[in-house]
Amino acid sequence: MRCASRKQSGERCKAAALRGQKRCHFHSAPGIAAAIGSVGGNRRRIFDAGNLRHFEPAHSPTELLEIIVTTLGDVREARLDAKTANSVASLATIGLALMRSTSLEERITKLEERDHHDR
Ligand SMILES: [Zn+2]
Repeated sequence: MRCASRKQSGERCKAAALRGQKRCHFHSAPGIAAAIGSVGGNRRRIFDAGNLRHFEPAHSPTELLEIIVTTLGDVREARLDAKTANSVASLATIGLALMRSTSLEERITKLEERDHHDR
């Protein structure tokens, strides 16, 4: 026998009913189906930019470190979703690489200027 419950969409549940009962395993435990259905909604509700600390754009590895450390705490304590945290992590990696190459560029320029003055 098929389960007598309907999904939220109105479609009939396709699972088999438990032996001697009208509903499937999933639908015979009250609340579980609804709880599972609301997980997606909860996950969206958890991420609220208003709960996050505001940062000015990072211009040094130290400033970037502060953002990364805060993001780590945010994702662990569910203030931020993993997808957003992953974007922060990959952008931070790119940012750090760019900071390294620009500071190297500045140092080389200074050395070249000094070299030029010494002649
Ligand atoms: Zn069912």
